Amino acid sequence: MNLRLCQVAGIFVLAAGGASCRVLPSFPAAPIEEKSSSGQLVFHSDFPLPMSHRLVRDLVAERGDIQRLLLLPMTDEPIHVHLFHDGQTYAEYVKDRFPDVPERRAFFVESDTRLVVYAHWSDHIAEDLRHEVAHGYLHAALGDLPLWLDEGLAEYFEVSRSQHGFNEPHMELLVDLMASEKWYPDLQRLATIEQFSALTQQDYAEAWAWVYFLLQTTPQHRELLQTYLGELQRDGHAEPLWRRIIKLHIDPAQNLTEHLLSLRGGA
Ligand SMILES: [Zn+2]
Repeated sequence: MNLRLCQVAGIFVLAAGGASCRVLPSFPAAPIEEKSSSGQLVFHSDFPLPMSHRLVRDLVAERGDIQRLLLLPMTDEPIHVHLFHDGQTYAEYVKDRFPDVPERRAFFVESDTRLVVYAHWSDHIAEDLRHEVAHGYLHAALGDLPLWLDEGLAEYFEVSRSQHGFNEPHMELLVDLMASEKWYPDLQRLATIEQFSALTQQDYAEAWAWVYFLLQTTPQHRELLQTYLGELQRDGHAEPLWRRIIKLHIDPAQNLTEHLLSLRGGA
């Protein structure tokens, strides 16, 4: 069985410098003592985790957010969430069972038959799980998402629900880079990246920015993304988003930069 190891966002992973998409030889058994389900999520933890916990309820609600915002018919395929009580236990487990995986706080693994998230409790656990579980929901519903969109959506949904997808650190990074003329949006370039190891922190931020632009500006933009995802789900392929956006805008990069500047101005 081949496993596709998919992505973890953020500086931590990028600093680890690891390729994040690999073929793994087998699916390791989990060392888990507690098992509970809530909605589509199956939690395996080495500590008691009440299903009434706010974090669990948040992750269950994320499914509805994705469904409503993307108009995406969801599936009931279980997403297994393996949680460790501390970073050291988690790191030892990952090193033993996934020796080729670079150090990271959390990761999502997809095989032909299972969707699994591994993570450990930390100050970042909510953000980490919202990100990885978003991958789980998306991969349960869709076939091959383009890498940039997979990550852009996960970055959108990783922020707390009250933020409505607004990932402020990404916005700040991109606006600062623009001010020093070190970055300009280029979705066509971003869409050519197929390896996780090639994604930079800037690329994650740009992927989020395009998703945020599509979902939070006009109904026309949101519908464009919804239509694309609908076609992808129905047909398994679709005309690339960047081509669709170009049909709407003469200069979509300019539109995106203006939007980002307005976000900082209104922050
Ligand atoms: Zn990711």
